[in-house]
Amino acid sequence: MTPLYILTGGFLVLVAALYLIFRRIRSVDNYRYQDYGPVTDPMPDAPTDEEVADYTNKYCTRLEDFVIDESINDYDLQKLAVLNGIKLQISRAWYPLVLDLIRELDQLGWDRKVSCIKEKYASLRFYTAHQYNEVIEKYTERSEKVCETCGEKGMIRYHGWEYVACRKHYLQARGLVTLLPEGFTYNGKTFFWSQVAVMNFGDKNHMGTYRHLEIHLEKKQFPKLQPSDLSVRIYNSVVGYGALLHHLPLHMPGLDYDWIDQFRRVSYCDICGYEAVYRNSCECCENDTRCLLDPDENHRHRAILYGQLEWLTDEGEYYESLQPHYRKNPDHKIIYTQQDIDDWE
Ligand SMILES: [Zn+2]
Ligand SMILES: [Zn+2]
Repeated sequence: MTPLYILTGGFLVLVAALYLIFRRIRSVDNYRYQDYGPVTDPMPDAPTDEEVADYTNKYCTRLEDFVIDESINDYDLQKLAVLNGIKLQISRAWYPLVLDLIRELDQLGWDRKVSCIKEKYASLRFYTAHQYNEVIEKYTERSEKVCETCGEKGMIRYHGWEYVACRKHYLQARGLVTLLPEGFTYNGKTFFWSQVAVMNFGDKNHMGTYRHLEIHLEKKQFPKLQPSDLSVRIYNSVVGYGALLHHLPLHMPGLDYDWIDQFRRVSYCDICGYEAVYRNSCECCENDTRCLLDPDENHRHRAILYGQLEWLTDEGEYYESLQPHYRKNPDHKIIYTQQDIDDWE
């Protein structure tokens, strides 16, 4: 054998050995991954956000040492609650409001004692010495205009319970139903009429209004779904509910067609200007439109004026322009003046 053969043979053996070693490492890695999942360090004692964060009263242990100044933040507020032995029962979006309140109380010599900080009936409750009632009342009123989700300008809404929401988050809570040629979508899920077994209205109130439409799907088309997932309940507060009833296919079993007939007619709203008035109520701005039929011209004018000013405050037009759900009346008239807006605010 010549030295060239020995050199080539040695090289090939080296490559083969390296390949086998590499395969072995890969297979060990795969084995570890498959059996145990990605290898991560266990973190049983991972620090909480609160421990990592830096805040003014981090090392404060006594209420009398609690510092109130411009720099205090959400963690300080949580610390104040801990030092008082209470829990904060408000959404985080209200923390800045409460921080402003305690700064103002501090100016009045407040001893930092508070027995409860919570939301009740969509407004802030802050229980401390009676002498501060006037200041607290001011913040209670303010809270009724701060969205509990994002902290932006909001108003009190009713959706099963009372809460404060900006228009954006209120629309999200109401949900959306849109019509399709062969069915509809509800909150992003698509349903076809051919999948529906039975529909019925439910929860009739003392005014004779059904609060929801219940749709039961064909079991044989969804053999894997649990019985509880085979029905969909659409409340009358959902955006697009009127149009859904308006276009419900005829002769679906289980339906009260006398009720549906009341949704066959839709008209423009004098307040918001959208084609969303079903049965004396506007689905878009949610005003009762019977006041617009008042024979007294002054009463009618005032109802439209206040309705339009509230629609303006609620940024209704802005959100409706972002994603129009209803047709706009081309002849709709805004009746408020700049003076009306100034007086309203
Ligand atoms: Zn919001
Ligand atoms: Zn309206």
